[in-house]
Amino acid sequence: MNSKSDIARPSWDEYFMMAAKLIAVMATCPKLRVGTVVVKNKRIVASGFNGAPPGHPHCSEVGCLKFEEEGTSCRRVIHSEHNAILQDSANLAGGTLYTAYLPCIDCMKAIIGARIDEVVYEGEYESHKSRYKSSRDFAALSGIKLRQIPEVNIVNLLARYYEQHNEDKPSEALEF
Ligand SMILES: [Zn+2]
Ligand SMILES: [Zn+2]
Repeated sequence: MNSKSDIARPSWDEYFMMAAKLIAVMATCPKLRVGTVVVKNKRIVASGFNGAPPGHPHCSEVGCLKFEEEGTSCRRVIHSEHNAILQDSANLAGGTLYTAYLPCIDCMKAIIGARIDEVVYEGEYESHKSRYKSSRDFAALSGIKLRQIPEVNIVNLLARYYEQHNEDKPSEALEF
């Protein structure tokens, strides 16, 4: 028996951004919860979320670590982009990184160091701090492509999936 083939799938960009956003739910810093995936040949090869270094207490337990001279920035967490790169930094050359916000300069330096080719993002932090503005210059100097895509609504995409999934559910036990 053939199964239906008219299923609606997200685009590849939507799929990878969905994955990045799904991973963001694991983030532990209440300032901003962000997730990242790195993709090579249409495969997710690394992922990360904002979190404290391994073995350190989470911001969600002990509060963010803020330094007076840096305003409200949290200095405890490793950013999601950086965490994804730390998973497999030697094998990400030529890859594409997906994350909801244009990375900060510290993450951009890690992206350059890992020789990632492209960054796909949806928006930018509402911050006038130089470390966000100058990440764009660093990317340009290293020839990293920055590609902004429209916001991916993970809730709608999942709703569409579940709608279809429930329609397609077999009424009787499956036979193999
Ligand atoms: Zn924090
Ligand atoms: Zn960052």
